[in-house]
Parts: sequence; structure tokens; C-alpha cells
Amino acid sequence: MATAPTSTATRQPASPISPALVWFRDDLRLADNPALCAAAAEGRPVVALYVLDEDSPGLRPLGGAARWWLAGALRALQDELSLHGVPLLLRRGPAARIVPDVARQAGCGLVAFNIRTEAAAAKVDEAVTARLRADGREVCPTLGHLLHMPGSVRTVAGGMPRTFSAFMRGAVRDRPALAVLQVPLLRPAAHALASEALDAWHLLPTAPDWAGGLRAAWTPGEPAARARLEGFMEDGLAGYGTKRDRPDLPHVSRLSPHLRFGELSPRQAIVAAASAGAAGDAPAGDVRKFEAEVYWREFSYHLLHAMPDLSRRNLQSAFDAFPWRECSGDLKAWQHGRTGYPIVDAGMRQLWTTGWMHNRVRMVVASFLCKHLLIHWQDGEHWFWDTLVDADPASNPASWQWVAGSGADAAPYFRIFNPVLQGEKFDPDGSYVRTYVPELARLSARLIHKPWEASSLDLAHAGIRLGVDYPRPIVDHAAARERALRAFEHTRKEIRSAG
Ligand code: FAD
Repeated sequence: MATAPTSTATRQPASPISPALVWFRDDLRLADNPALCAAAAEGRPVVALYVLDEDSPGLRPLGGAARWWLAGALRALQDELSLHGVPLLLRRGPAARIVPDVARQAGCGLVAFNIRTEAAAAKVDEAVTARLRADGREVCPTLGHLLHMPGSVRTVAGGMPRTFSAFMRGAVRDRPALAVLQVPLLRPAAHALASEALDAWHLLPTAPDWAGGLRAAWTPGEPAARARLEGFMEDGLAGYGTKRDRPDLPHVSRLSPHLRFGELSPRQAIVAAASAGAAGDAPAGDVRKFEAEVYWREFSYHLLHAMPDLSRRNLQSAFDAFPWRECSGDLKAWQHGRTGYPIVDAGMRQLWTTGWMHNRVRMVVASFLCKHLLIHWQDGEHWFWDTLVDADPASNPASWQWVAGSGADAAPYFRIFNPVLQGEKFDPDGSYVRTYVPELARLSARLIHKPWEASSLDLAHAGIRLGVDYPRPIVDHAAARERALRAFEHTRKEIRSAG
């Protein structure tokens, strides 16, 4: 395993009593936080800073749901830090100016932060580091958001892994035992710096306030992440391997937004699962499967490192000439859960109301957009980016490309999910659909995934006027499948000739 970058610059040794600045980013937690540990080492007093940087070039602005989450996560971090007497300074503006300014104003000899590895964010880190070093401060960049430095995992032959299984093998081959870092003893630094007000950042929606469903579904912040992790280890992990594909069952962790904002580290997630396995609370197969899923996140960052514009460019260039359709009506129907396919509509409405969607259903809705509707995966990726609380710069584009067929180790182009069969298999009694598409709630399990096959009597009993209360399918599955196969045929030839 590649080790985290460690402190490098030492123009002049910092005074042991000068405070250290810890710059929080996608690591909004106190436990298992290498940067916080580095800052607080040797009893240094600590200054805590978060910068809302919407000015540095190339950074992808957060979507609406992620901004909502960030507000809650920062509030929670303020609360956690205040238990240790450390205020969280909030500043808005370009990090390359703000971090060195705060370090100077607070007299910090050392600045510690967990690096971000996306290209634009890494550039910001470089600029910040250069200015801090020019000011004579010690800089301590650590790795806290991932287990492996993107680009560091190699195959046995020393090459870049191109498939997930090769990546996973390479990653765990030489991995040292994982040990979670405890919250360090924190001493607040004396300073007179004022924080900006979180409310003044307007991260929360007001006109209209569309976040009611998010508030009902989630509590951002480290304590809630810890509680969710513990709850999942007790009640969800056993059975994860076989039941994780069922959106109607509680067998996935729902840790993704907590991992996205670093309220929980991937190491904490994996170590907790291993402990549950060792204690006999979950079978080894479930523990391994969970670890592998967490490693899909690592693999996504590995891909993003190899292709920094993953959200804008096909990993397989053969897809550049793919004949995508432009159809705003179909795109809108998909976005609003009005396609006439209940499992697709349930997923899209779960996303809209709660800011999250079950993984199996994400695959179904993404396949439906790219294959049944032949709409560009980037349109879907943008919608997810804006509506997911876990919208992730690596996992979101990598997963979309995987479904579309243009990605690394991607689903083959001819895998076109049948939304009826997917619904019947993974939501067998229709309870997931009933939750999010209530107008179909009174249909029987036999018909709920294909209401167009219901007789007029069945529909009348269920109180549904098809085409009025709930749409008829916007495309016929068989015809859409044929159309997609024809469109992909051309791309397949390109892939063959390229290979
Ligand atoms: P669990 O099954 O409990 O898995 C534990 C953790 O492993 C997750 O929290 C997540 O961090 C990671 N993980 C699991 N599956 C994957 C995966 N396939 N790829 C990457 N990481 C994974 N995940 C995001 O975190 N952010 C995204 O923006 C995102 N966009 C997606 C878009 C599409 C089209 C698809 C098909 C998948 C996307 N995923 C994304 C991956 C996956 O759907 C979610 O990570 C998962 O549903 C989160 O639920 P969970 O925490 O209960 O997962």
C-alpha cells in the first residue's frame, strides 16, 4: 500500500509551542483524521479552519443536495470541536489566499490537511502549499479521504490495473493492517480571529425550501455517521452479500454521504466490518463483499486520477461518436419519475425526495436513461450531481460510465436491464414501488411492476386511471432494446477495430 504523503517542507523548524492550523475539507470528522492528529501532535494548540472555495478555477461547484448536506456537516463539526473548546473558523474565498492568511494571522508554524486528489483540487493544494512554504511554515499533507493514493495501486506485473478485480487484488496485496486513529487530545489556540456565519453562506434552500424529505431521511455529521455505522454492523451487515440488491430491505449501509463528506473514513468502515466478522456478528462472505464495495469507491478515484475529466469525456473514445438522442421531454419524464416504468419512477422519486437512491435502482435508472432513452450519460450524471447527497466527483461519473458501457471494466453494451424483470426480482412484493409511487400502492404484487397489463377492473379496484394518475410507458421495452442494440452496434465495431 502506498503510504500517505508526509510532511516535507521544513524551511525552519517550527516552534514547538506555535499553534498548528488544521484545514478541514472532505474530512469533516475528529476520529481517524490524520491531519488533525498531525496538527495536535506534541500538544500543539490547534486552530481549525474550513474554506468554502467557489473561486479557484476548475473546482466543480457542489450540487443543491450536497450543499444542504455540507451545511449540516459543518454545523455538526462546529459542535464536535466546541466540546474540545476549539472554534471552527469559516472563511469563504480562494483557498490559496485564505489558508496562508489565516495561518499568518493565527501565528501557526504548521499547517496540516488531508489532501484531495482530484486534479483541480490538487492544484489548489499545490498553490496553498507553495505559499505556506514561502512564508516559512511547515506543511503536513496527509491522506485521509482514501486508503490508497490514486495511481499507486499496481498489478503484480507493475502496470496500472484496468479492471476492478485487478485493482482490488493489487490494493490488498501488500496492505498493512488497518488501524483507526483515535481523536487526539485537542488544545485550543489563543487567537482573536472571527468566523464567518454559516447561515451567511446560504447553503440551505429557502425559496422554495425543497429539503423537507432530506431532513426527514438524514442527519449529517460525525455522530450520526458513527451511529449509522454501528446500526449497520448490528442489523444490516449479516446478509449484505445476498440482500444488498434489494431496495425494499435494510441491508445496505447508507453510509455514502457520510463517506463523501468524510464524516467517516473508509478505514473506519472496513475495520468496523472486520470487527463484526471477527466477533461472529456477520459471516466472512458478507464482510468481504462490504469491503469490496468500499473498494469500488477507491477504484473510482483511481480512474479519476487516470482521467481527470472523467465527468466530461468517455473513458473509451469509441463512444465519442455514439448517436445519443436529444429529447428534453424524455429527460424530464425520467428526472421527475414519470416514465411509466414503476421501478424507474420509484428510484427517481426516492432520489428527489430523499437525496439518495439504492445502488441496484441507480443501475436500473441509469441503464434506462442511456439505453432505453438513448440519452447521454452526462445528462444523467449532471442530474445525480445536483440531487444526490452523496454526489461524488469520482464515484458518480465512474458509475455512469460503467452503466453506459463507455467506462473502465464497464457493463457490456448489450446488457440492457428489463425494468419489469428488475422490479420483479429485486422488489418482489412491490413495497419499494408502493413507498415512492403511492398512486400504484393498491395494485397487486403481480401487476405493480407492469400496470399496463392490468385489466380495467384491476385498475378500477386499485383506483388508477392509467395515462391520467400514472403515465403509460414512454417507450416500449422491446422496441427500445432493439433501438439501443442498433445504436451500440456501430460503437461495438469501433471498439473492435480499436482493440
Ligand atoms: P453500501 O452498499 O452500503 O456500500 C458501502 C460504501 O461503499 C458506500 O457508502 C460507498 O461509499 C461505497 N460503494 C458502494 N458501491 C459503490 C460503487 N458501485 N461505486 C463506488 N462506491 C461504492 N456512490 C457515491 O458515493 N456517490 C455517487 O455520486 C454515486 N453515483 C452513482 C451513480 C450511478 C449511476 C451508480 C450506478 C452508482 C453510483 N454510486 C455512487 C455508487 C453506489 O450506488 C453508492 O455508493 C451506494 O448506493 C451508496 O449506498 P450505501 O452507502 O448504502 O452503499
